[in-house]
Amino acid sequence: MAIRQIRIKTDEVLRKKCKQVQEITPNICTLLDDMADTMYAANGVGLAAPQVGILKRVVVIDIGEGLVELINPVIVEASGSQIDYEGCLSVPGESARVDRPAYVKVEAWNRAGEQIIVEGEELMAVALCHELDHLDGILYIDKALPDEDEE
Ligand code: ZN
Repeated sequence: MAIRQIRIKTDEVLRKKCKQVQEITPNICTLLDDMADTMYAANGVGLAAPQVGILKRVVVIDIGEGLVELINPVIVEASGSQIDYEGCLSVPGESARVDRPAYVKVEAWNRAGEQIIVEGEELMAVALCHELDHLDGILYIDKALPDEDEE
């Protein structure tokens, strides 16, 4: 268990596409443990592996309803729309509005290598989309909408 350094937005590792995890190894389990520690220490609701410099498709999320660990997550269903402010541990001190689906369904592996399905609405849908975007080198600032009072 260890806290890893969170990469900040100009770090080019955040812009790379992550690789599929082929096999759940002890290193992957350590990565999941460290990512959860790092997320909680930073008071975040989600963290993706490239944010700690690892280009693997691994995500942790906890919106206050318990830790969710996702390996090789894929959005298999999305519907609706919601617009709300988002922030990111890699973009400290900033926030902006982003248009996200109101509902998403994600397929992934858990750390036992079993396929799991995670569904999310509201903040959980935002967190799933935000963290999965990180795996493809996308930051929320790429999708940011103007502030309401600027419209
Ligand atoms: Zn983020």
